[in-house]
Amino acid sequence: MSLLEVKNLSFTYGMGTAFEKKAVNDVSLCIEQGEFIGIIGHTGSGKSTFIQTLNGLIKPTGGQILLDGKDIWEDPKKIRKVRFKVGMVFQYPEYQLFEETVEKDIAFGPKNMGLSNDEIKERVKSAAKFVDLKPELLKKSPFELSGGEKRRAAIAGVIAMDPEILILDEPTAGLDPRGRDVLLSQISSYHKAKNNTVLLVSHSMEDISRIADKILVMNKGNMFAFDETKNIFSKGEEIEKIGLQIPQITKIMIELSKRGYDVPTDIYSVDQAVYEILKLRRA
Ligand code: ADP
Repeated sequence: MSLLEVKNLSFTYGMGTAFEKKAVNDVSLCIEQGEFIGIIGHTGSGKSTFIQTLNGLIKPTGGQILLDGKDIWEDPKKIRKVRFKVGMVFQYPEYQLFEETVEKDIAFGPKNMGLSNDEIKERVKSAAKFVDLKPELLKKSPFELSGGEKRRAAIAGVIAMDPEILILDEPTAGLDPRGRDVLLSQISSYHKAKNNTVLLVSHSMEDISRIADKILVMNKGNMFAFDETKNIFSKGEEIEKIGLQIPQITKIMIELSKRGYDVPTDIYSVDQAVYEILKLRRA
């Protein structure tokens, strides 16, 4: 049994109105415990709608979502519990910081879960550590933090709920390149340490190819591809045809292959490419 099974999932906004808009169309896939999934697609391809159905924020207009084998909407009264199991970090989550101190903000989720004070303290400490927020920042007002720190505090608030599945919608949007790299490596370390399941929406193929085990490519509400990262790039040219960028290094390998060099085209890291190119020289 998969941790999460999505069966023929569809979502239409404004169903039955003149503004009806199908945002997700008949998506089926399975996600296993411990996987790191990258989700990519153009603006409007249905990524946000898709992830919002996964933690019960919006109810599918077709199909089912099974978490640990159970339909999350089987008992609508229990949907709150699903939201604790499937934690969601929205785009620009720092806008949702509202408590007097950073500590209280991070504690908000665990408090809602009804945990003891000691457990809450422990959760806050550990979550702050994952995103490298110094203990002295915890007593400050969230408004005294820098942009990057605010973002990390907001992410810590979701991590503190210790979700089985953590979903992040464009967590690096608006950060500078260094801030982006730092945050991505923190998310990657968190995933390795917890061995839980992470879904990360990004518009950067370069970013997700570095950390995701599998990639879901959405196109116009449809699942264009869902496969291991390596296999996704073996379809590099098809992905470019729908207007998405592939990593620069993959492009170089495709170009070399077209010019008659015997190199694989499913390469997406510079290290792999160096290895393959050096092999050519020896041949
Ligand atoms: P993405 O996250 O890939 O940018 P979205 O899931 O936000 O895509 O949007 C998918 C489609 O649904 C788009 O055509 C968008 O305009 C439409 N959409 C999104 N939210 C709403 C809404 N609240 N009401 C009506 N249409 C919406």
